[in-house]
Amino acid sequence: MTLLGLLVYLLPLRLEASLSSDWDTRAGLWAGLSSCGRLLFSRQQYHLRRLLTKILKKQVLSPGIKRFELDAAEIARKALPGQFVVLRVNEEGERIPLTVADTIPDRGILVIVFQEAGKSTRLLGSLCEGDTILDLIGPLGRPSHIEKFGTVVCIGGGVGTPEIFPVARALKQAGNKVISIIGFRNKDLILMADEMESVSDELIVATDDGSNGTKGFVTDMLKQVIDRGEKVDHIFAVGPVIMMKMVSKTSEPYKIPTVVSLNPIMLDATGMCGVCRVEVGGETKLACVDGPEFDGHKVDFDLLMARLRTYLPEEKQSLELFEAAQKIGGCCGGKGACHA
Ligand code: NAD
Repeated sequence: MTLLGLLVYLLPLRLEASLSSDWDTRAGLWAGLSSCGRLLFSRQQYHLRRLLTKILKKQVLSPGIKRFELDAAEIARKALPGQFVVLRVNEEGERIPLTVADTIPDRGILVIVFQEAGKSTRLLGSLCEGDTILDLIGPLGRPSHIEKFGTVVCIGGGVGTPEIFPVARALKQAGNKVISIIGFRNKDLILMADEMESVSDELIVATDDGSNGTKGFVTDMLKQVIDRGEKVDHIFAVGPVIMMKMVSKTSEPYKIPTVVSLNPIMLDATGMCGVCRVEVGGETKLACVDGPEFDGHKVDFDLLMARLRTYLPEEKQSLELFEAAQKIGGCCGGKGACHA
């Protein structure tokens, strides 16, 4: 992307962020300028696809969870475990950040898995094979730090499981003993158990209600692994914020380094707007460029949870309007992308 292109892309986002967040303007501008500097002088290259991105394959993994294979060769060639992309379905669309669930570089395929949680992800999920997405940028964020730690526990909670999969695979390839723990509310929501098993030395499946695997939370399973005398050298966890908080609380007394992948509200995703700021070790960090992975023992999870609740009334209203429009025959006001 050229410098001019980058500024043209980022300037409206900066204004949008000022209007829509409680971000102090001076601090925001400073963060914006310093990130712009970092972008200009770093060697990181994003691909902003202004070409329409085609959905090559669509699968429903479990109720409300969809997997798309996208035709996005430049991103598929570069994306590393832990990185994410941002997409917009159409011109009026919200920017949706999604962790890269997998890539098939030789076929130019980027895989995303998402939960239909609000209007924008419902709209995305309504698209079919052959349909296109307006724009896609990535790979974004810092990749996971992969090395031979020894024994690593990889924890996926619900729809966080597809995101932990490439991390677990890379850790296994780096020579680690990988113990994976994946947790779901019930058996119908279990995702990617076979894939996780294929990259793990041991896979523990947990369900909250005991309908499959062992009954309990992922934190109960982690405690059991530690208590049976396993020397755990590192933990990676992706899932609901409360889960990542409890995993970090569980591992802290044992001083096991614990990496969590944060998912705050995000706008431009290149460090300009500051909307995705999080507190880590008393410092303000931007999840999009400093993360999304951070030391779980230092993250202020309560602040993150409070900030994630900021727009809940608006999100609820937006979903209600979307559902009402769908009932009268046009999910997106006649702007295309209306599929069951
Ligand atoms: P969920 O609520 O069904 O929980 C999944 C599992 O997490 C549970 O089965 C349990 O084992 C564990 N868990 C939940 N609450 C816990 C607690 N209090 N203590 C210990 N363990 C607990 O999850 P879901 O509905 O599939 O996930 C939805 C959330 O995950 C969304 O909020 C989404 O934003 C988030 N998510 C985050 C990322 C990321 O990058 N961090 C990626 C995908 C999804």
